[in-house]
Amino acid sequence: MTTITLVQGDITRQSADAIVNAANSSLLGGGGVDGAIHRRGGPAILEDCRKLRASQYGRGLPTGRAVATTAGELNARWVIHTVGPVWSDTEDRSELLTSCYRESLLTADELGARTVAFPAISTGVYRWPIDDGARIAVETIRAADTAVEEVTFVLFDQQAYEAFDRALR
Ligand code: ADP
Repeated sequence: MTTITLVQGDITRQSADAIVNAANSSLLGGGGVDGAIHRRGGPAILEDCRKLRASQYGRGLPTGRAVATTAGELNARWVIHTVGPVWSDTEDRSELLTSCYRESLLTADELGARTVAFPAISTGVYRWPIDDGARIAVETIRAADTAVEEVTFVLFDQQAYEAFDRALR
């Protein structure tokens, strides 16, 4: 059983075996969590990302997939980058958001990470409604067959924290 914990705060201040980044396909940085992770983690993360773009992810990391790099100066061994779907009013992209959480846990298992910190993927610039994003996150972690012992959701603001708190009940 994976324990789920909620924390309100900045994910770059969290300590865990692996910290998940809500990245974009380019893997070369962006705003929100992505920008914060690269700023605080330092240039080693971007260097690894560039290597991934030069090798197996020449066209970028597809939406719903996950890949690991060093965590640089963060209090973690790895950053797991995953690309969330952009919210759509006309198309149901839930399966892609589910895939982000599932693939991130699979990657954590491959690495041997036992504690993993997640942000609320897609709920920022990608506009996914927070209650639905929280529901998908919690359901997917609960349903996962993983050796990860503790998942910590690090929620930036009180609204996101409360949405995850409701989803957990
Ligand atoms: P996406 O493009 O997947 O929507 P964002 O980084 O824009 O990714 O936002 C994802 C979520 O992370 C949002 O709920 C946002 O408020 C939150 N967030 C932004 N910065 C941080 C941070 N430093 N730590 C934790 N969560 C953050």
